[in-house]
Amino acid sequence: MEARWRSSAKPVQAPKTTKTVSFEEVSGKASSSEALPLSLHLTNAVFFSLFFSVVYFLLSRWREKIRTSTPLHLVNLSEIVAIFAFIASFVYLLGFFGIDFVHSLILRPSTDLWNSEDEEENEALLRKEDARKIPCDQALDCSVTSAPIISAQKVVDEKPVKLTTEEDEEIIKAIVAGTTPSYSLESKLGDCKRAASIRREALGRITGKSLSGLPLDGFDYESILGQCCEMPIGYVQIPVGIAGPLLLNGKEYSVPMATTEGCLVASTNRGCKAIHLSGGASSVLLKDGMTRAPVVRFGTAKRAVDLKFYLEDPENFETLAVVFNRSSRFARLQGIKCVIAGKNLYLRFTCSTGDAMGMNMVSKGVQNVLDFLQTDFPDMDVIGISGNLCSDKKPAAVNWIEGRGKSVVCEAIINGDVVRKVLKTSVESLVELNMLKNLTGSAMAGALGGFNAHASNIVSAVYIATGQDPAQNIESSHCITMMEAVNEGNDLHISVTMPSIEVGTVGGGTQLASQSACLNLLGVKGASQESPGANSRRLATIVAGAALAGELSLMSALAAGQLVKSHMKYNRSSKDVSKTS
Ligand code: ADP
Repeated sequence: MEARWRSSAKPVQAPKTTKTVSFEEVSGKASSSEALPLSLHLTNAVFFSLFFSVVYFLLSRWREKIRTSTPLHLVNLSEIVAIFAFIASFVYLLGFFGIDFVHSLILRPSTDLWNSEDEEENEALLRKEDARKIPCDQALDCSVTSAPIISAQKVVDEKPVKLTTEEDEEIIKAIVAGTTPSYSLESKLGDCKRAASIRREALGRITGKSLSGLPLDGFDYESILGQCCEMPIGYVQIPVGIAGPLLLNGKEYSVPMATTEGCLVASTNRGCKAIHLSGGASSVLLKDGMTRAPVVRFGTAKRAVDLKFYLEDPENFETLAVVFNRSSRFARLQGIKCVIAGKNLYLRFTCSTGDAMGMNMVSKGVQNVLDFLQTDFPDMDVIGISGNLCSDKKPAAVNWIEGRGKSVVCEAIINGDVVRKVLKTSVESLVELNMLKNLTGSAMAGALGGFNAHASNIVSAVYIATGQDPAQNIESSHCITMMEAVNEGNDLHISVTMPSIEVGTVGGGTQLASQSACLNLLGVKGASQESPGANSRRLATIVAGAALAGELSLMSALAAGQLVKSHMKYNRSSKDVSKTS
């Protein structure tokens, strides 16, 4: 049927230029209009008029017959013609509107579909839909199991898809052949979305793997260029849940958490509730300084010590600070700590960085100082701008002891009634569990900054939601959780001390739309207008406050023996994963 329609309509050709087409066009599903010589509206109007006029004519004729008692089956020529016209117009109208309507009811996944109870059936229907809509045009390689661009688009929304043009097809072939490097697409094309789409298509052909499920559309690829991610082929979706309000330093915060761990948001939310009912938490920032530690080498240990003494002499600090601070109007050198290892010297620079997390800023400042030192210490050999004493994205005692980024302590007194009614445990049990698990258990395990139940859960979820560097969750999650019975043993004093919270509200991933929206929700988006650094410092206190809520709730669940039960309920899918394709 479709072939017959196509033959009478204009032949379908691969578009010469990039053209936005609908899914129905992509799937090659011909519409009824292609079979008709008249325009669609005119044809419909003709058949509608015909249908209603013959119905009117036949009804009036039958009414006349009933009145004159003429038998209904005796029909004249005009009535026969009218009956044929009725059947013809009915069939046309049914074919045109009826079949599509019935199809849409049966096959199209609507939002209601997800509310239906049988999820497996829904997924099967979606897969069927995918198969129906995957194009097999000359611009797409049909040897790949499914067309990634189309399928991924389908997962996100039902917006139109761009088909590859002949020019795109040439580029895809060049990438597959290895004659054009994939990384050069953005600069060559000047269109980041198109570059991602082409790279993705080429990758599908090279690997033979489907990227179905990894969305491409609905993302601003220009916004990550040269800043957040190279060679993009799509983006991963992570749900954002909300915990709160967290009552912290007299203000309420709704804390966004990006996670796929069931229970986490619910648990943090319960902690926030307990804190709120107890009058809130308070959080104090102890220190604010990002660090970078280059390693330099000398011919002798004596020369390395010479430089150490020079850098640690208070008289030289002002000169060094002037040189360092040239890197940015927000960078302010706070100090340099020197550590010797034979003839090698590690210089741990610490500086404030305004609202930026500050790694780039501090690195630029360090480079300025190293260039300056080269005049007085020409025998100094700079081995690396980062010598790991910084210490970035690795568990290290130096961060635990000295701090890195923001050092914060956060505390709350949880009312005994709240502990019983909301947290379903007792002050005594919590204090005992904290001593044996977070303190003694962690000591027995040789923990480094891990004297807590799950601070990294909260830190990572808030970091991903707000555009922080998730790898810095390592030192940012260093935390010691303390619990003590107060007010004659009736209430619980809980605190978290976190020496290395590394956050920023400008730079990096914080400027991306979704992450920026989450920062906005917390009231810390972008650079602080009142005082540079106030937004990032406040964000650090919120991270600590959320960690406090998370610690309180998980420890209570453990003390009450609820952990396994709640995880079975919220953290384990009832779906048969063996059937997941
Ligand atoms: P990071 O070091 O965290 O990667 P960058 O130093 O690369 O961040 O980016 C911070 C940029 O933002 C710098 O160019 C800086 O001048 C600018 N900026 C604007 N306002 C502020 C602010 N309030 N605090 C810090 N940086 C700011």
